[in-house]
Parts: sequence; C-alpha cells; structure tokens
Amino acid sequence: MDTLDQAAMRLRDSRHAVALTGAGMSAESGIPTFRGKDGIWAKYPPEEYATIEAYLQNPQRVWEFWKTLAHEFQHVKPNSGHTALARLENADRLKAVITQNIDNLHQSAGSRHVIDFHGSMGRLICLKCHRREPFDTKSFDAGPPSCAQCGGLMKPDVVMFGEEISKYALYESHAQTQQCDVMLVIGTSAQVFPAAGLPYQAKQGNAYIIECNIEPTDFTHDISDAFLGGPSGEMLPRLVNYVLGS
Ligand code: NAD
Repeated sequence: MDTLDQAAMRLRDSRHAVALTGAGMSAESGIPTFRGKDGIWAKYPPEEYATIEAYLQNPQRVWEFWKTLAHEFQHVKPNSGHTALARLENADRLKAVITQNIDNLHQSAGSRHVIDFHGSMGRLICLKCHRREPFDTKSFDAGPPSCAQCGGLMKPDVVMFGEEISKYALYESHAQTQQCDVMLVIGTSAQVFPAAGLPYQAKQGNAYIIECNIEPTDFTHDISDAFLGGPSGEMLPRLVNYVLGS
C-alpha cells in the first residue's frame, strides 16, 4: 500500500481525478451512518420504511421516517473533509464528486460538479408527472405533499429501495469513472450497488485508487492503491494540503 504522500503526488499529477463519497463522509458533520446499532435502520427497518411500495401503501407512515431524517439534516454543516474536496475542485485538481449521500453537504461546502447518485433531500419529485421542485427540510413537518401541477403524490427526490437510479446520475457517473485516472473513495462500505461498482470500473481503466475510511473494506483488499486509515475530516485536509502545497 502506498502512503499518504505517495497518494498526494499521484493526485497532484493526475489528469482527471474524481471522488466517490458515502455516509462516512458526513459522519463528522453529525449524520450517523445508517447501519449499526445507532443507525437509522435500527429504528426504521428499510423494508418497512425505505421501499417505494411501503410509501405507496402508506405515505403518512413512511413520511415519519423522512421527517426524522430531515430533522437530523436541518442543522448540520459541512465538515473539513467536504471543504478539502471543494478546495481541490477550485484548484482544478478534482473534476467531480459522485456522492451517495442525500444531505447536500458537498454543495454547501462549495463543490460545484456534484452528482447526487441517490438523489437529494433538498428536492421533491411527483410520482405522477415526475416534476421536481426544491424542498426545504423544515417543510417535512406538514406531511406528504401533493403536486401543485397535477395533484399527484410527491416524495423526496431520493432513490428508495425498488426504484431506479436516475438516468442522468448513471450516465454522468459512468462517464466520469471512465475518464478518471485517480479515484478517491471516501467513507463508503462497498456494500451498496451499483455505486460500489464504480471503483472497480475505475480500476479496470487503470485508475489509481485512494481510499479513505476508518476501517478496511472490500475495496481495501481488492483494488485500493493507497489506504488513508482515519476519519475523512482529518485525512482529506492532510492529503489536500500536501497536493496544494499549503
Ligand atoms: P455505509 O453506512 O454502508 O458505510 C459507511 C462507511 O463509512 C463505512 O465503511 C465506515 O467505516 C465509514 N466511515 C464511518 N465514519 C467515517 C469517517 N469519519 N471517515 C471515513 N469513513 C468513515 O454507507 P454507504 O456505503 O454510503 O451506504 C449507505 C447508503 O445510505 C448510501 O448509499 C446513502 O445513500 C445512504 N446514507 C446517506 C447519508 C447521508 O446523506 N449523509 C447517511 C447515511 C446513509
């Protein structure tokens, strides 16, 4: 395994670097990962609350889950890991962030090219006419809204189990992955597909894989060239300071 300074040199000399981020990226902002004993799945089992069928059967009940999540998201701020990635993009050393997170924290930190692979809690989508509109997390208290245009049931523009990833997110993330010569893989457990397939696809195209996680994952054993073992809020600023020489 390469060390942090070797990884930094590969990133500094890269032609097209991209990042794939997961729940661990936002852990230091105070959003717990969904798995584990304190995770949200422990209180709201995904088969009861996170499937599109469950929402269609009982929108009011499932909305309670969205409301709890929205409350968790309301006061959170980007952490130093998010800021480090935004600095890297501003310095033209990072072309895109593909995130599995739905919390909008990369955008709040100043990242501009963000692909919300699993959607975002900051928008609603109408299940009938597919119109999207921005949504304030404070508005979740009012219950499931109806579409102002067609009266259809709306839901957060987030990919639930049983739903497909948006065509745009799939197309753009594959395009970025095909082009990349360095991929940063941050705070993701390698368990949720198809997102977990992207680092493998990058590796097949000979990309150099820099992984940051507090514990090893399947990526670590299979494809990572450098493993930054520690919280992303600490490791990413160190990496980026090295790359940008500050
Ligand atoms: P996951 O919960 O399966 O795995 C999180 C990973 O982050 C683990 O490997 C863990 O070791 C690592 N981790 C925890 N704290 C870390 C830290 N401080 N620094 C670096 N790594 C850390 O998450 P996943 O792979 O992203 O999949 C879960 C799915 O649930 C995602 O697809 C996402 O849509 C959703 N989710 C979103 C949010 C959010 O929007 N903030 C939060 C939780 C889950």
